[in-house]
Amino acid sequence: MTGTAPRPHRRSTLLRATTVVAAAVPLCTAGWLGWRALDHSGPAGATAAASAPASATAPASTRPGAADPAAAPLTPPVAPPPSADAPTGEAPTPSAPTGTATTAAPTGTAGTAANGLAGRTVVLDPGHNPGNFSHTAEINRQVDIGNARKECDTTGTETNAGYTEAEYTLDVSRRARAILAARGATVVLVQDGDRPWGPCIDERARSGADAHADAAVSVHADGGPASGSGFHVIMPGRVVAGKADNSAIVEPSHRLGLLLRDQFHTATGEPYADYTADQGLDTRSDLGGLNLSAVPKVFIECGNMRNSTDAKRMTDPQWRQQAAQGIADALTAFLTTR
Ligand SMILES: [Zn+2]
Repeated sequence: MTGTAPRPHRRSTLLRATTVVAAAVPLCTAGWLGWRALDHSGPAGATAAASAPASATAPASTRPGAADPAAAPLTPPVAPPPSADAPTGEAPTPSAPTGTATTAAPTGTAGTAANGLAGRTVVLDPGHNPGNFSHTAEINRQVDIGNARKECDTTGTETNAGYTEAEYTLDVSRRARAILAARGATVVLVQDGDRPWGPCIDERARSGADAHADAAVSVHADGGPASGSGFHVIMPGRVVAGKADNSAIVEPSHRLGLLLRDQFHTATGEPYADYTADQGLDTRSDLGGLNLSAVPKVFIECGNMRNSTDAKRMTDPQWRQQAAQGIADALTAFLTTR
């Protein structure tokens, strides 16, 4: 989930009182409505729209699918790498420390392209942090995202049963790291569950440049209306304002976004979101992680945690492995095709 105000975590404090839990649910919904409203009419979006010339990659509208009918079929589906290339159906080893590059160790695997990503670096940005719930003051600090100021980080959402987005994003990112490292990539996780909170969204954005990465993906799960399901990919709108200038990454991020939309759909069978975005694609100019990124970057909202069907999938480790596969395949395609 992106752009939602943090709220108390009912498992981490004494705020388990019924009244607080009851209040938390409508607050989440209100937050969702809030960010959707901001998406289309908020000051951040308006600023970016005003500064962005109409073009194939940066339409005046924030809805590329609606404004640019050619957006969806721009890139034909790219076949995923050979299946022998990647481990499947098994949990990765989530042990690498934060910020430490993880590179595939084994080489010479017969008949595979095990080193197909050798020399390439990717950043995986697991949205939120499981510790954010107990660091409200720190994550509420405002940071500059170029065209606005925004909270350093947020708690994210969770399923009705209490499986948090932060747990989900970290697990999927670790699984994707294992797949990409096995293909030879150097993989950097922005956080690996070993820091108490955050990092802030501006640091998350900087991590791509800091790692000299070729691409970055921020992993999220949404907290939309219970009746809505499906996933969507968020691509950067062009923002040239204050400290932000992401002009150079808009086009390649669009290419990455289309690949991720297609590969994630293929790997998981998850439908495109039916409650937001357009054909699984959205473009936003109010996310610090995209406004301030110097490397191609997109977000993926892997599903709607408040929808029972999506929640069941996201709590299933096998489905999370498929989600990681889709993300890894998209990054692989991005780095190996033009
Ligand atoms: Zn999120």
